[in-house]
Amino acid sequence: MIPGLIPMTQRVVKMPKPGLSRFQSESVFRSLVEAVQDYAIFVLDPKGNIMTWNPGAERIKGYSAEEIIGKHFSIFYLPEDLATNKPARELETVAETGMLEDESWRLRKDGTAFWASVLITRLLDDKGKIIGFGKITRDLTERRRYSQELELRIAERERTNAELEAFSYSVSHDLRAPLRAIEGFSQALREEYSHLFDETANDYLQQVIDASTRMNRLVQDLLNYSRLSRTELAVDKVDLNSALTSAMKELTTQERKFVSISRHQKMLVMAHEQTLIQILGNLISNGLKFHAPEQQPQVTVDIRPGARPKTVRVLITDRGIGIAPEHQHRIFQVFERLHGIEDFPGTGIGLAIVKRGMERMDGTYGLESSPGSGSAFWIELQAAEESK
Ligand code: ADP
Repeated sequence: MIPGLIPMTQRVVKMPKPGLSRFQSESVFRSLVEAVQDYAIFVLDPKGNIMTWNPGAERIKGYSAEEIIGKHFSIFYLPEDLATNKPARELETVAETGMLEDESWRLRKDGTAFWASVLITRLLDDKGKIIGFGKITRDLTERRRYSQELELRIAERERTNAELEAFSYSVSHDLRAPLRAIEGFSQALREEYSHLFDETANDYLQQVIDASTRMNRLVQDLLNYSRLSRTELAVDKVDLNSALTSAMKELTTQERKFVSISRHQKMLVMAHEQTLIQILGNLISNGLKFHAPEQQPQVTVDIRPGARPKTVRVLITDRGIGIAPEHQHRIFQVFERLHGIEDFPGTGIGLAIVKRGMERMDGTYGLESSPGSGSAFWIELQAAEESK
């Protein structure tokens, strides 16, 4: 033990009161420090000269105990840190506050730098006088490299995604005009010339019209989806009932007959109105669409308190084909569909709009479903107070 120092055991490792003598606890502590390989643990005198050295310190910093004991700890700092007096400043802070944590570059004996996580603590004698500093250093170079690599990859992926989205946005946008021409001229053909065509020609024409209608839907959905991340979504008080009424207007009169909404009194939520209408519309029309051909669709919409405090949940339940648990996560990704368009028409973007829209409005979403017993999709939004 260094003369005058309080054994670190009393500061760091809590020994059971009865049992170990001061001598024993010191030797237990010493063996503990000696066994540590991943941490440099050493003691500085009040001026910052190194007084002890453990194998971890030797492994991380490259100096043997004989080489380093007695030297000033500023030897580990980069020239730019020495220029700003960082070592002395750190000791001053620890002397005042008791402890300091830092993550920054330090030097090894061979001059290479490593990313160090450093903890310095103040050591006091019985009267509260500073008699030195304890220093624990860890080499986090590898960890830092991994996390930087990870950040880089995430940034790259985000950039690629953004580029892809920008690309799909501009393609969709540019497709609209030629698509309108195909739709318009094929409609004109049907209206004005179909009497001149034989059955096969009329069938081909109908296929052109159907395909362009599908493509129009896809382009519209893609534009809506990418708009959700491109534009600012101002969230404001929206009356759920009127949003539901607007969503219902998008349905045909026939479809509306299969939807029942349990109305409540005025219910305000924080949302972007157009996005909310679109989300409700997508969920309701999915409920109407995904049922066995021999079955009649049936969708109910309920409004109730959400699971989180001060939230409102809208629950859209159908009696349709249901969704197996293993697919429930992926259907919220763009273009993920569980069926071919010959069974159920669609673009595979509806639920991706639900996901992104809810995320952008700080809401949550989810579903409960099992094959054959229908699905219950829900969204949850912050409730809003009526302004007085
Ligand atoms: P789309 O309806 O255009 O196919 P969505 O993104 O809205 O695209 O839905 C993705 C897929 O999730 C659907 O193709 C379907 O397989 C499944 N799905 C969505 N809603 C339901 C539902 N209510 N019942 C059964 N399956 C559904």
